[in-house]
Amino acid sequence: MRLVLLGAPGAGKGTQDALIKERYGLAHVSTGDIFRENLKNSTPLGLEAKKYMDAGQLVPDETVMKMVGEKLAEFADDEGFMLDGFPRTVAQAEFLDGKTKLDGVILFNVDDEAIVRRLSSRAVCKDCGNVTTRLEHDKCPSCGGELYTRDDDNETTVRSRLKVFHEQTEPLIKFYRDKDLLLEVDAGQKPEEVFACVAELLNDDKN
Ligand code: AMP
Repeated sequence: MRLVLLGAPGAGKGTQDALIKERYGLAHVSTGDIFRENLKNSTPLGLEAKKYMDAGQLVPDETVMKMVGEKLAEFADDEGFMLDGFPRTVAQAEFLDGKTKLDGVILFNVDDEAIVRRLSSRAVCKDCGNVTTRLEHDKCPSCGGELYTRDDDNETTVRSRLKVFHEQTEPLIKFYRDKDLLLEVDAGQKPEEVFACVAELLNDDKN
């Protein structure tokens, strides 16, 4: 199974990604994670991406497509995966179209104000990468690790990431609906409720 997880920043793609991985054993590729890893290691790619990430803007298409192309080449033809955070523009979606056939694109719908509230309390575990909320936890509820706040989870950057989503990524909804690949989920619910909807859609889709 090859999937794309589509949704605004903070729509819960990372959380669902982990749950889908656990249930369906699918490998995942998160372009945001790859950029953050590169940034941590101060690679040229990480340093190039930083200026866009800090401003809540998209890294240029050519850079992202080259990186994703290399990543996808690592998968065998019959190997499944899900993409989180890619594609984010029509040019990226067309590029992906030329690389692989998808089984579904899950769209996580949440309204902007809920996202701003969610991201202002979002925290990530330094050890296991688990995504959680500071409203309920001081330490990672999964492994007890230390939590940190992503640099781009401040309100100003979140609002520009949302603007970028509406302007540049939202056209993908029509792109994938026209290809009959779009599977929509109400992501304003609790993570386990969202996952129940995802699982139902994926099971239906496989039958
Ligand atoms: P994310 O973790 O998916 O929210 O991504 C964090 C940041 O990485 C984004 O705000 C962009 O600056 C950059 N980024 C991640 N994926 C892409 C992509 N597909 N195209 C362009 N920029 C991206």
